[in-house]
Amino acid sequence: MAHLAFMSLAEAGHLNPLLPIAQELVERGHRVTFPADAWMAERIGPTGAEIISYEPRPVEAIVIDSMDAAARATLAVLRQLEHVLPQIETGYAGDRPDLIVNDWLAWAGPMLAAKWRLPRIQSWSAHAAGEGYDFGEFIAGMFAAAGSVKAEFDTLFAAVLSRHGIPPLRLHDFYRPAEFNLVYQPRSFHVHNETFDDRYAFVGPTRLPAAQDWTPPARPLVLVSLGTIISRPDFFRACVQAFAGEPYHVVMSVGRGVDPAELGPLPANIEAHQHVPQPAVLAHADAFVTHAGMNSTMEALAAAVPMVAVPHTPEQRTTADRLAALGLGSVLVPTDVTAERLREAVRGLLGEPAVRRRLRAMQDDVRAAGGALRAADAIEARLPRGLR
Ligand code: UDP
Repeated sequence: MAHLAFMSLAEAGHLNPLLPIAQELVERGHRVTFPADAWMAERIGPTGAEIISYEPRPVEAIVIDSMDAAARATLAVLRQLEHVLPQIETGYAGDRPDLIVNDWLAWAGPMLAAKWRLPRIQSWSAHAAGEGYDFGEFIAGMFAAAGSVKAEFDTLFAAVLSRHGIPPLRLHDFYRPAEFNLVYQPRSFHVHNETFDDRYAFVGPTRLPAAQDWTPPARPLVLVSLGTIISRPDFFRACVQAFAGEPYHVVMSVGRGVDPAELGPLPANIEAHQHVPQPAVLAHADAFVTHAGMNSTMEALAAAVPMVAVPHTPEQRTTADRLAALGLGSVLVPTDVTAERLREAVRGLLGEPAVRRRLRAMQDDVRAAGGALRAADAIEARLPRGLR
């Protein structure tokens, strides 16, 4: 049996796909250790993985809605790493793992794997980089948009490497394929999927929560959500205007940052909540107006629900464009959102038989991708024989 170190950022989108895999490996008898702050530890605890606890530095949330914000968020990731890396190294003193599995933004993974000469698997919680899909241009554009951030980043990056005795690495190395890579989409959904070789396992979503009992108030049903991070009362107001009196019922999940009362009195066919049991609602939904976050997108594909994607970040834009290219939905960029366009977009998808057919094929691909069990198999296959 092996000792596997799992590493992630303290963000649901990065952490969540790894949890069912950690649990599966623990159930197979492996020892899984997981560096974590208190927020992560609460979520990791039930998997049976051992926590290597660290104290994070306080951070302000940055919504990555521009290249400039992406650059500042990248610097924030490095500052956090500078703070926690010594604590992680101490946690592993005299107890080195046999293999590291890290989220693509958890750079302690590639740094310690290089230092300790360990095999490593990269967990791509959004889209995976590949030989035909290099993130280098994105990184260059990101830093070009953010002035002095690059110089600050480079100085701190070099300092962290030298302080920890880590071999020379570049930021770009972390955005490139690792020796082995896990991707939480079916291969058929991934952008440029023809360019990915057998270093990638496209395992699909690792957790599709069982649909809880949830009774749809009426059908047809349209779900509206921008996920758990974006806070846009103006968008939900446009939805109210768009969908009032339409021949379908609308459930809006406005997020914790918006008070449903801010939206004023709602028409009879629209309700607003701060949070809904999304997979359960999707099981009954006929269309989904979504920010195209990776989890939401996979949940909707698993339920074969057509999407109107309103992407707010570059990663969500890639997903949204993919939905449109595959004929599984349509895209409305936030600056183009009007009540009329939203109404037309939903009308265009409801009951569209060709879209339904393509969605059913993609639903089969999501189910066949294998999820956490296939990811655990792929990880075990990379362990030295005696440790499997
Ligand atoms: N979610 C939910 N209820 C809500 C809104 C969101 O359960 O009312 C869940 C949703 O099912 C998904 C996650 O929160 O699993 C959102 O993840 P995603 O990657 O789509 O977006 P993010 O919130 O990270 O932007």
